[in-house]
Amino acid sequence: MASLIACPHCGPRPKEEFTVRGDAGIARPVPDAGEDAWYAYVYLRDNPRGRHKEHWHHTSGCRRWLVVERDTMTHAIYAVSDAGTQDASTRGETA
Ligand SMILES: [Zn+2]
Repeated sequence: MASLIACPHCGPRPKEEFTVRGDAGIARPVPDAGEDAWYAYVYLRDNPRGRHKEHWHHTSGCRRWLVVERDTMTHAIYAVSDAGTQDASTRGETA
């Protein structure tokens, strides 16, 4: 059975229609944060096992960015929402 992602705009769609960007919880540093902070933001990623949030782009559908909460071990999907409706802390932005 194909894995389906319930896009809030298009309904349940096969995962092949989406492109994964990665962790939705990474905070973008302030412009003058320094080289180490920018290096970590651009290149360093955790590889979590279990439930976490990721950015997915509905490339072959509505072309919206989504936040998908899923389990990386079981591939179970718990929640899908439009990334544009998330508050700043959920999007990984800092003040
Ligand atoms: Zn969609």
